[in-house]
Amino acid sequence: MTLHPILFVGAGPGDPELITLKGARLLSEADVVVYAGSLVPDAMLTHCRPDCEKVDSAPLALEQFMGLMVERAKASKRVLRLHSGDSSIYGATAEQTKLLDAEGLAWSIVPGVSSFQAAAAALGAELTLPGVSQSVILTRTEGRSTPMPSGEKLEELGKTGATLCLFLSATLGQKTQDALIPHYGADCPVGIVVRASWPDEKVLRTTLGELEKTIKAEKITKQAMIIIGRALTREGEQSKLYDKTFTHGFRRGVKG
Ligand code: SAH
Repeated sequence: MTLHPILFVGAGPGDPELITLKGARLLSEADVVVYAGSLVPDAMLTHCRPDCEKVDSAPLALEQFMGLMVERAKASKRVLRLHSGDSSIYGATAEQTKLLDAEGLAWSIVPGVSSFQAAAAALGAELTLPGVSQSVILTRTEGRSTPMPSGEKLEELGKTGATLCLFLSATLGQKTQDALIPHYGADCPVGIVVRASWPDEKVLRTTLGELEKTIKAEKITKQAMIIIGRALTREGEQSKLYDKTFTHGFRRGVKG
């Protein structure tokens, strides 16, 4: 009896066309798909075969949906776990893969487009603007249930001046602005993208000083990516990559 490895596939941010070709092919081959219904739209499941067993993990506990995945995989089914965005970011994959290791089942991961990338695209933003920011930090504002490890609080990360992409922080506007204004300034641009790449995507531009006010006024409660940094101004230095006077491996620069 052949056992198939359990596949963790990044679904992308929502648009069914933003899954990878490999992810879509594997979805179409799967016998069982376990997906987080709260973040993966139904339209994504159009990639599945009509007879595919589709299980929404949102109302289930880890043991429940993992039990089902283990049982189906041991019965030689092709089991696919569909995660929103890329599964490596706030995907709780470590606890799932550890459990599969304990069961002696093989697994592998297929990457996906993360929501921070879809949000940057919706904002038309380059997050790494020369002379302004050359680093992007994927993080969150500390919530009640998830304390930040020491050194990772926004007050600390803000010292870097890097472009910040905040996941899971839509309800924490006040805390976010209080922590970051001392480092970035109240006039620092902020982009908020709600349901990036979904049909009802909403793109908002505000400043750090107005963050909480904007969130309240727009009644944003979830599925929002908050991008903070002066890179959003597009006022940086010209990149050397396309500078005609700069020589690199693929092009000889000209004088003047
Ligand atoms: N693995 C996912 C993140 C899961 S955590 C990824 O790579 O994108 C869930 C958080 O991701 C949400 O609270 C929100 O901050 C963000 N998110 C997920 N999908 C989103 C979308 N389509 N638009 C904006 N933010 C999104």
